[in-house]
Amino acid sequence: MPELYVDGEWVEPVAADHRDIRCPADGRHVATVSEASAADTVKAIAAARRAFDEGPWPRTAELERGALLLRTADLLLRDKAEFARAESLDTGKRLVEAEYDIDDVVSCLRYYGGIAGTDAGRVIDTGRDDAISRVVHEPVGVCGLITPWNYPLLQTSWKVAPALLAGNTFVLKPSELTPSTAILLMRSLEEAGLPRGVGNLVLGAGDRVGAPLAEHADVDLVSFTGGVDTGRWIMAAAAQTVKKVALELGGKNPNIIFADADLETAVDFALTAVFLHSGQVCSAGSRLIVQDEVHDAVVDEVVRRADSIRLGGPFDSRAETGALISAAHLEKVASYVKAGIAEGAVLRCGGFRPETGALKDGYFYRPTVLDECSTGMRVVQEESFGPVLTVERFTDEADAVRIANDTMYGLAGAVWTQDGGKAQRVAQGLRHGTVWINDYHPYVPQAEWGGFKHSGIGRELGHAGLAEYRETKHIWQNIRPSVQRWFSG
Ligand code: NAD
Repeated sequence: MPELYVDGEWVEPVAADHRDIRCPADGRHVATVSEASAADTVKAIAAARRAFDEGPWPRTAELERGALLLRTADLLLRDKAEFARAESLDTGKRLVEAEYDIDDVVSCLRYYGGIAGTDAGRVIDTGRDDAISRVVHEPVGVCGLITPWNYPLLQTSWKVAPALLAGNTFVLKPSELTPSTAILLMRSLEEAGLPRGVGNLVLGAGDRVGAPLAEHADVDLVSFTGGVDTGRWIMAAAAQTVKKVALELGGKNPNIIFADADLETAVDFALTAVFLHSGQVCSAGSRLIVQDEVHDAVVDEVVRRADSIRLGGPFDSRAETGALISAAHLEKVASYVKAGIAEGAVLRCGGFRPETGALKDGYFYRPTVLDECSTGMRVVQEESFGPVLTVERFTDEADAVRIANDTMYGLAGAVWTQDGGKAQRVAQGLRHGTVWINDYHPYVPQAEWGGFKHSGIGRELGHAGLAEYRETKHIWQNIRPSVQRWFSG
């Protein structure tokens, strides 16, 4: 069965190209998928345009659109094992993590399905008896949705669910490395009753298949999650047709531990913060910032525990974290570690690829801790997006906030202290879109997610997430029109 979904049909690409998808954990062949050309994307855009301009979807009651999301959530739960397995094999992440991801996708679909019909705009009191004034929300139009490989279906659901609820049509381009669950999602949406042309799927490389979504005049909004360099390019390309742009970009996220924290818990979470999914998490706590007095004790314990993390493939029940996505990515992570050491960081553990035994065929990299780092270092400033923790020291509260904010990114961060006032002051001072206090990583679909500074534009999730996909219109009606004679002639 072909894998491109355009105008309600599964189709072969115009100029067929194919890509072998291999599991990053062991190189096993997962699938061979047809890849599109720019011409296929243009066809998909045309289908989405027609469905928006002429089809029923934008005019369908919001409650009905929400009901489709709820039906899709049920289908995902029915097929959870298939979705989770596909996500694991594409990404190399542990099956249990992929199962959590599918649960999160279901929550996201249910959240947007559940808020359908709860926001009917507002009526403004004009103070006059001859006019009615109201503010309503309308869909933006055709949305180009471009997603990364680290949480393939979750990132996709954060875009598809609000876009559909608001009445838009879309063309989805998932990462070329992890297309499987996007294909399954389109099948579920089709089964749930998505009208023809409302959702379209194109597969392939970003510069070929994704680029038209940023450039084409018939796309009204481009929503992108990925790296900051690609984000800059997309923003510039979208400027030519003044598209709405939503960007969810990288992070270099500070995790601050004060001396008065519950250190055992802080250390435990510091490991999860950075080594979950081998650090391939936009909000990974990759910068540990520790108060001088407890630096040695904290770092010794982090190193001891990091060094004993068990790596393994998706179905290895003893594995605690998985592989990196590709050979190129592994090379990039290793080069950041090398650069850090060259700039004076002290390698405390990891820093190599296991090359024997069961791990030798996968893109594994040992959890790595670089101590005695400073904000000037490349490995501290740039996103390695791998299992690499840098450690910096601070003296007092002001110093901690200054160091944590000394980055072009602003996605997320955490503070560990048992002093409630200090926790709130530091949270207030951090220029990061999400701040956890005595915790790391949890998110809820009701709360906005998005970055300050170079971490992005706009918000995903929550009501603000929905707002990205809606236009706001003011409708004024004169209900007693009559001649006014402003001019006498
Ligand atoms: P990437 O920028 O390389 O690719 C992301 C997507 O963009 C892929 O689908 C890719 O094919 C596409 N793309 C690449 N070039 C393109 C172009 N010229 N035109 C259109 N599309 C193009 O990122 P990645 O390596 O897939 O993902 C990792 C990055 O994603 C990290 O920087 C991570 O921090 C970020 N991320 C951010 C969030 C967030 O919520 N802020 C969440 C997940 C990942």
